[in-house]
Amino acid sequence: MKKYDAIIIGAGQAGGPLAKKLAQAGKKTVIIEKRYVGGTCVNDGCTPTKTWVASAKAAYNAVHSVDVGVAVKSFKVDMAQIKKRKDKIVENARAGNQKGLEETKNLELIFGEAVFTGEKSVIVELNEGGLLELEADLIFINTGAKTIIPEIDGLEDIKYLTSTSILELDHVPGHLLVLGGNYIGLEFGQMFRRFGSKVTILEKSARILSREDDDISEAVKNILELEDIKILTGTTLKKVKKNEKGKITATVTTGGKDEKIKCTHVLVAVGRSPQTEDLELQKAGIKTDEKGYIPVNNKLETNVKGVYALGDVKGGPAFTHISYNDYTIVYRNLLEGANLSIKDRPVPYCMFIDPELGRIGITEAEAKKQQLNVKVVKLPMAHVARAIEVGDTRGFMKAVVDMDTKKILGAAILGSQGGEIMSVLQMAMEGDITYDRIRYCVFAHPTYSESLNNLFMGLEP
Ligand SMILES: Cc1cc2nc3c(=O)[nH]c(=O)nc-3n(C[C@H](O)[C@H](O)[C@H](O)COP(=O)(O)OP(=O)(O)OC[C@H]3O[C@@H](n4cnc5c(N)ncnc54)[C@H](O)[C@@H]3O)c2cc1C
Repeated sequence: MKKYDAIIIGAGQAGGPLAKKLAQAGKKTVIIEKRYVGGTCVNDGCTPTKTWVASAKAAYNAVHSVDVGVAVKSFKVDMAQIKKRKDKIVENARAGNQKGLEETKNLELIFGEAVFTGEKSVIVELNEGGLLELEADLIFINTGAKTIIPEIDGLEDIKYLTSTSILELDHVPGHLLVLGGNYIGLEFGQMFRRFGSKVTILEKSARILSREDDDISEAVKNILELEDIKILTGTTLKKVKKNEKGKITATVTTGGKDEKIKCTHVLVAVGRSPQTEDLELQKAGIKTDEKGYIPVNNKLETNVKGVYALGDVKGGPAFTHISYNDYTIVYRNLLEGANLSIKDRPVPYCMFIDPELGRIGITEAEAKKQQLNVKVVKLPMAHVARAIEVGDTRGFMKAVVDMDTKKILGAAILGSQGGEIMSVLQMAMEGDITYDRIRYCVFAHPTYSESLNNLFMGLEP
C-alpha cells in the first residue's frame, strides 16, 4: 500500500489544477486518470465542439455573406479536414495539460481506473496492466459524467452516436436524427445542418430548452427552423431499425400518433449521468443520491470527512467553469485557510448555437414563481446598432430587474456575442451595479454592450 497525502481520482477540470496546487504546496499527491488528462471538456466536450462550431459558422458565412454584398460562388465542407483541425487542437490542449501535471514536483500521474477499497484507500487497475494500492487522508473525486443511453427498442442494434463518438466522424451524415433538444443536441444539430446534413431534432417536452423562459425557447426554435432544421417537440422515439443498406427507420410518437422518419445517423443527447457506479463508493461509506450523484456540503466535502467531490459528479450545474470553481474553493479553503462556499455563487453559462445564448441568474418564470417585485426588459437585436452593422439581427436581450433594489437578478442574451454581453451583466450583478447606473454608463460605440443603455431605458417610467 503506497501512502500519499492526497489522492485525486479523475483528471478533469477540477482534478488536474487541484493536483498541481496540492503538490506545489508540498503535499505528496497522486492523480489517477483512466482515459485522457483534461477530462470531458478538453477531449470530448467544450474544446472539440467549439472548434466545430467555428467551422460550421464559416460554412454559414459562406452562404450568408451575400447579404453584406460579398457573394461566395462555391464552397466545400471538408469534414476530414474539419476533424483533423479539431483533433490537433484537442491533442495540443491535452498534451499541455498532461505536461503540466508531469512536470510538477511531488505529483505522480497514474493512468488507470481507481476503485475504493476503504474510507481512505483505493486500488488502481493500471492501463498498462497490474494493480496498485494507494491510501491518503485526503481524497478528491472528480470523475465527471457520461452520456445517458435510454432504453429504446432497437437502439443497441444500430451504431448510434453520442456526443463523444460523433466527434470521430470524418464525413457528413445524410440525415442526422438528434434525440434531445437541450444544449448538446442543439449545438450538434445546427453544426451538422451547416455542414450539409439534413437534421431532425426530437424533444419529448412541449418545447426545446425547457429550463429557459418560453420566449427564449420559441426564439431559438425559430432561429434553427430558419436554417431548415426540423424540430419535433412533444415527441418520443419509440423504435429504430436499420435495413441492410444501412438506412435507419425511426418510429416516433408525436401528437399521440406514430410516424416514421428515415435517417442515416442517430445522435443520443438526452442527458448525462455521473460516473460513480464503478467506484465502489459503498466500500468507503460515501453516499450517493438516487441518480448516483455524490451529495456534498457547501465546501464540497462528502459525508466522509476528508473525501471531497468536485465537478459534474456532485450534481448541480454541469459546466467546466463550475468544476474549475470547485477546485479553487477547495484549495483555497484547505491551503489558504479561506472559508469559501459554493452557496449563492453565480452560475453563468452559454449555449454555443449561433447566435449564442448567454445566461446568468434567474429566469422570468423563476422570478414569477418566487413572487418577486420584478420588471422584465427586452431589446430586440434588430435595435442594436452593432448587430445591424454586422448584418445579424437575430435574437434579443432580456433582463429581470428587482424593482425594490434596482438590482439585476437575471439576464438572457440571445444574439451575436451573447456570452460576452452576458458576462458584462454578470460583472454588474457581482459588483451590485444597479440597472439605473448601466442605463447611463458610457460604453464604447458601437459595441454590442453599448446597447445595455437602451435595454434598461425600457424601465423609464
Ligand atoms: C458535448 C459537450 C459539450 C460541452 N460544452 C460545454 C461548454 O461549452 N461549456 C461548458 O462549460 N461545459 C460544457 N460541457 C460540460 C463540461 O464538459 C463538463 O461540465 C466538464 O468537463 C466537467 O468536468 P469535471 O471536472 O466534472 O469532469 P470531467 O472533465 O468529465 O473529467 C472526469 C475525468 O475522470 C476520469 N475518470 C472517471 N472515473 C474514473 C476512475 N474511476 N478512475 C480514474 N479516472 C476516472 C474520466 O476519464 C475523466 O477524464 C460540455 C459537455 C459535453 C459532453
